[in-house]
Amino acid sequence: MTANAKTIIITGASRGIGRAAALLCGAQGWNVAINYRSDDAMANRTADDVRAAGGQAITHRGDATDEAATIALFDATEAAFGRIDGVVVNAGIVAPGLELADMTVARMRQVIDTNVLGALICARESARRLARPTDEASASLVLISSVAARLGSPGEYVDYAASKGAIDTLTLGLSRELAPKNIRVNAIRPGLIDTDIHASGGAPDRAQRLAPQIPMQRPGTAAEVGEAIVWLLGDGASYATGAILDVSGGR
Ligand code: NAD
Repeated sequence: MTANAKTIIITGASRGIGRAAALLCGAQGWNVAINYRSDDAMANRTADDVRAAGGQAITHRGDATDEAATIALFDATEAAFGRIDGVVVNAGIVAPGLELADMTVARMRQVIDTNVLGALICARESARRLARPTDEASASLVLISSVAARLGSPGEYVDYAASKGAIDTLTLGLSRELAPKNIRVNAIRPGLIDTDIHASGGAPDRAQRLAPQIPMQRPGTAAEVGEAIVWLLGDGASYATGAILDVSGGR
């Protein structure tokens, strides 16, 4: 284990932005706890790749909406590595594009449960466990929002956009609540990033199709978001709290 290595929990880290962030944490020589919902093989692959990059890793299967599973994730991380220094609340879902008038309550509940309740549970556990004296390096909670929070996603998924608006508001309030406990709380709003989330929402080509609407004329990569996550986790961001950082190619 690298001396002074940070220990970071990342939810939904078996693929996409969470996986990219895990690999970049590994390259810092940090310890990474990889939470995932169901894909054992992909989670193990991510753990192997974190180790190959120079870090340590554990995997922990559990649904982010399940309080007991989230507590078990934090317990397992402390047991493996000691103190937890950073948490990335990344697990999130979209549902197929529809107008609100056509959405079922079951779909809305699933989106809100995962993206809002799941984030609140993980943030609460972080608030309970990450506090430290103010003369030490701060702990860091990074919440993954979306530019949807300010664009609103009309005709596509206003439920998802509203869930990410909640993340932005949580970031503002919790950053002030936890600043005296030496925990920084920041959010990242990715724009259109080329990951499998679009296929999960029934539109695998979405990022490429909408590229002309992006000022930089291309989707972002998971690694480009991961770089911003690692900056907010690290000591270089020691005075950043309550920030909501767009990583969106100008969108
Ligand atoms: P992704 O679908 O590749 O990854 C999301 C991960 O979260 C998956 O591994 C999934 O299994 C996991 N997950 C979902 N529900 C879970 C649960 N209940 N418990 C545990 N894990 C769960 O998507 P991504 O693009 O990497 O998305 C990561 C985050 O970035 C999400 O919060 C998403 O809303 C946000 N985001 C993505 C984009 C984009 O364009 N890709 C844009 C803005 C914001």
